[in-house]
Amino acid sequence: MFFHAHPDDEALLTGGTMARLAQEGHRVVLVVATAGELGLSARQTDLGAVRTREAHASARVLGCARVEFLGYRDSGLEGRRRHGFARADVGEAAERLAELLHEERADLLTTYDPNGGYGHPDHVQVHRVGTLAAELAGTPRVWEATVDRTRLLRGLRLARLIRRFDLTPFEKTYTAHHEITHSVDVRQYAHVKRAAMAAHATQTTGGESTRTLAALLKLPPPLFRLILGTEWYVERKRLRA
Ligand SMILES: [Zn+2]
Repeated sequence: MFFHAHPDDEALLTGGTMARLAQEGHRVVLVVATAGELGLSARQTDLGAVRTREAHASARVLGCARVEFLGYRDSGLEGRRRHGFARADVGEAAERLAELLHEERADLLTTYDPNGGYGHPDHVQVHRVGTLAAELAGTPRVWEATVDRTRLLRGLRLARLIRRFDLTPFEKTYTAHHEITHSVDVRQYAHVKRAAMAAHATQTTGGESTRTLAALLKLPPPLFRLILGTEWYVERKRLRA
């Protein structure tokens, strides 16, 4: 079971792993906390409904057997929205996720690292809710989807040769190389991951962060495989046996 904050997170962070597991015969289930209705997009009306459809399309491409939305509201990058997922009751959300874990008899749940990657409040909440849900359901394995920060910084330092920008915001994001427990090779599934990313059409236009997706989709396939051909996880040891 792959637990994500917003539509498109699944494709970008864990799409290759999902495609690989599905093709290897595992039942892959996607659970998304919000409809991502505050995502930056050129399209503003009914964004939640459109992004929900995009998540279903992406999940189909990745080979998911089931898609569930927890129905929380997107908190936005600033996390100011009062009724957003970031401020939802952790216990209540975890119980709902635990129910799905139970129903599916899931043997693995993916969440996010404690930083929520780059710090989006809904992503931090995915870490909290996912960790508790796995504990409640007795899910044997919890993998925190992340990015190898060491590798990311190396790439950004190179990019800085072309255009100067401040690296400080990235120095505490995601996870240091030595903490990563699983690097999943998904190069063989890069084309599937790319198609899943492309299914999130509203996120390829509009604000700063959405252009990241568009920029990645424009990479020539060999470069795409190089940059997005590995997915990283930290396996959390269970507190209780
Ligand atoms: Zn997100």
